[in-house]
Amino acid sequence: MKNKKLGINSRMIHSGEFENAIGSATVPIYQTSTFIFDNAEHGARCFSGEEAGYIYTRIANPTIHALETLVADLESGVKGIATSSGMAAVNTVYMALLSKGDHMVSSAAVYGPSRVVMEQHWSRFGVESSFVDTSNIEEIKNAIRPNTKVLYIETPANPTMDITDLKACVEVAHAKGIIVVVDNTFCSPYLQRPIELGVDVVLHSMTKFLNGHADIVAGMIVTKELDMGAKLRSMMVTMGCNMDPHQAYMVIRGIKTLGIRIERAQESAMKIARFLEDHPKVDWVRYPGLESHPQHGLAKTQMDGFGSMISFGLKGGFEAGKVLMNNIEVCILAVSLGGVETLIQHPASMTHSKVSAEAKAKAGITDGLVRFSVGIEDAEDLINDLAQALDKV
Ligand SMILES: *Cc1c(COP(=O)(O)O)cnc(C)c1O
Repeated sequence: MKNKKLGINSRMIHSGEFENAIGSATVPIYQTSTFIFDNAEHGARCFSGEEAGYIYTRIANPTIHALETLVADLESGVKGIATSSGMAAVNTVYMALLSKGDHMVSSAAVYGPSRVVMEQHWSRFGVESSFVDTSNIEEIKNAIRPNTKVLYIETPANPTMDITDLKACVEVAHAKGIIVVVDNTFCSPYLQRPIELGVDVVLHSMTKFLNGHADIVAGMIVTKELDMGAKLRSMMVTMGCNMDPHQAYMVIRGIKTLGIRIERAQESAMKIARFLEDHPKVDWVRYPGLESHPQHGLAKTQMDGFGSMISFGLKGGFEAGKVLMNNIEVCILAVSLGGVETLIQHPASMTHSKVSAEAKAKAGITDGLVRFSVGIEDAEDLINDLAQALDKV
């Protein structure tokens, strides 16, 4: 309770519920699959829900509970549901909220697999979907059908960095009883808290910023309402895409430095974005902190900072992208994002290679587009690295 009054940096360190039996300074790893009942009556009370005791780790576990309450608090939500991965969080949301004959409207430029799984697999069970430019509210309005149940948004979008106005989306969707879901992976609650803007469900790939050290794959769902939390938890438990206690411990540890990691990375990102903007081989740069970003004004009001994700286009297209990838020395050539190490990747040949050419074009993913996740190294080293690699393009 007292934590509610603390600032977000303090809550990253002190929030999260756990029963501290012996005065441990950190949350212990309860590496157990099952929990002992005091007696038959106690077991019966736990199963009936009359008493909130631990039963089995797929259902709940104290280490995982500490992480769930921590992230729910940071997101200004009421319930957290930890999952084995970000995609487990995405699929739990799809499975719980969409039935045969239902329709979802989503940002076109979402994380590749979030779109592919909907179009190739959920469609097999009769779920319909439309992928539109959600940064244009008119496109959302036009895509809504009588059977639309979910509006699914990523902002800033991946990898175009387009920004969607969450308050406007909530207004349009709620007027029609549509649930609004936001994948908040790119921002983390340090930079953006969609629930405070009226969004119903937030999800994360905690593999990225929240854990931040590129050593764990993990996901989280946070809800604005208790009922929605119960519905999503029950789906996660029955699908069995729960987190492991050791994974939870690692993410709790990672979150402690989320604020200082993001502050450092976004300071460097601003410098790098400006360097790229002035570079002759670079066609365009998309970073919410640049005045040239089409939604710079919206980014300023919706986000508490501009983050550390940059997209830029090379004049030389697909080939130039490959040359840049092959000559980088300090940055790491790898997919993923949000870690302490700077990562660079080329969506056309990597993450979005399975997305159709037409869908790529509609989502603004060009052949020369490079995605850059700025880490916490010295900004000067990152700029020098990009400069020498761009010389070879
Ligand atoms: C990585 C990512 C996911 C998927 O998360 P995993 O942890 O890899 O399963 C979903 N959404 C976004 C925006 C991501 O970056």
